[in-house]
Amino acid sequence: MRIVIVGAGIGGLAAAALLSREGHQVTVVETACELGDVGAGIQMSPNGVGVLDRLDLGDAARAIGCTPDRIVIRRWQDDNELMTMPMGSLAEQRWGQPYYSMYRPDVIEILASRCEHVDLRLGSRVIAIDHDDPSITLLAGETLDADIVVGADGIHSIVRTSAFGPQPTRFSGFVAYRALVPRDDVNDLPVEVTNRVGPDGHIVSYFVGRERRFLNLVCIYEDASWDVESWNEPGDPETLRARFADWSPSVRRVLDRVREPVFRWALHDREPLPRWSRSNTTLLGDACHPMVPFMAQGACQALEDAAALTDALSQHTDVTAALDEYEQRRRPRTADIQGRSFANATTYHLPDGEQQAQRDAVYTTATHRGADGLAAFDWLYGPGKTEGV
Ligand SMILES: Cc1cc2nc3c(=O)[nH]c(=O)nc-3n(C[C@H](O)[C@H](O)[C@H](O)COP(=O)(O)OP(=O)(O)OC[C@H]3O[C@@H](n4cnc5c(N)ncnc54)[C@H](O)[C@@H]3O)c2cc1C
Repeated sequence: MRIVIVGAGIGGLAAAALLSREGHQVTVVETACELGDVGAGIQMSPNGVGVLDRLDLGDAARAIGCTPDRIVIRRWQDDNELMTMPMGSLAEQRWGQPYYSMYRPDVIEILASRCEHVDLRLGSRVIAIDHDDPSITLLAGETLDADIVVGADGIHSIVRTSAFGPQPTRFSGFVAYRALVPRDDVNDLPVEVTNRVGPDGHIVSYFVGRERRFLNLVCIYEDASWDVESWNEPGDPETLRARFADWSPSVRRVLDRVREPVFRWALHDREPLPRWSRSNTTLLGDACHPMVPFMAQGACQALEDAAALTDALSQHTDVTAALDEYEQRRRPRTADIQGRSFANATTYHLPDGEQQAQRDAVYTTATHRGADGLAAFDWLYGPGKTEGV
């Protein structure tokens, strides 16, 4: 089949690589003139790594991935460990794949390396989609016919808008500052994913890049006054330091090492969509289930979508039946994760008090379960978990 994919992000490239391996004739059209995601980090949990492995990218993922020894939730004011989840080799033992933190351009690079049979058209912005006689029209005027159009074009998806009409995103009220600190400036820090939680904010940090080149910092706080969503909106390191000035000495030490560029990003999501497909057009990734990043699952879910869409198209010759099955497998799970991600903000950002003490008691219980506590994540990270929960 001729499949046109709009968008060469993590979801679009994964779908292109998988579908071309099944013998489909795949074209990817991407607005950007160069491949490569923004310079930031990403946690890639075993459910996402499994899709990379399916593309024979297991070794490449190992080469670009950092393996955290633990995932730790700490208290904002004094760094006390509230919850510790051992990770390292335990992830692979339990879920069949490692848990990595990665540099996003590296992820794009390895996915693109599996698109050797894909017609990849950069600098090609889609401006219109015909759903009845499937085709897309580019800004330059060219029209590409297709048997299936896949919108992997992110949260502001033109494919979704053209299929289902305009629907505004929902501003979460949270702003994320992100920065990369060179490894030499933070060599003393453990190789962990650390989530420091406190009133109205949390800070996630982990190493990314080949040989742990950077510490990736994502600092989130409530700020309903500013809602611009862009990977490239500059942020001011001094504003960031001022916001967390009363947090623990180690938080302040790390923030003191932050240099420009710092970027800020207003976090948006959407309510789950009732449908993803219209005629021979469907959606994947942030185009259909954008979520706030408080479970670190947006890209992993886009990878799962790519695998599920490929499977559905292999199992059905009828496109409508395939797209129906794809949606049925994927919508319940992604809707659940969208909701849980949003709810995590409330849990993480509790002001000190009774509810916070109750939350911390739950975290302590989880810590005491040690490696057995990993079972709580089987539904999310386990193999073959791409279906509805
Ligand atoms: C601060 C932050 C931290 C995050 N951390 C994690 C994490 O740790 N783990 C995780 O799994 N997820 C994480 N996410 C979520 C993750 O970044 C996204 O879910 C993921 O990148 C979505 O991938 P995608 O391919 O669906 O869309 P995108 O990455 O948005 O790609 C869409 C592509 O489509 C192109 N495009 C758009 N419109 C057009 C058009 N009209 N014509 C042609 N091309 C077009 C764009 O240029 C872009 O390249 C995080 C998100 C944020 C904001």
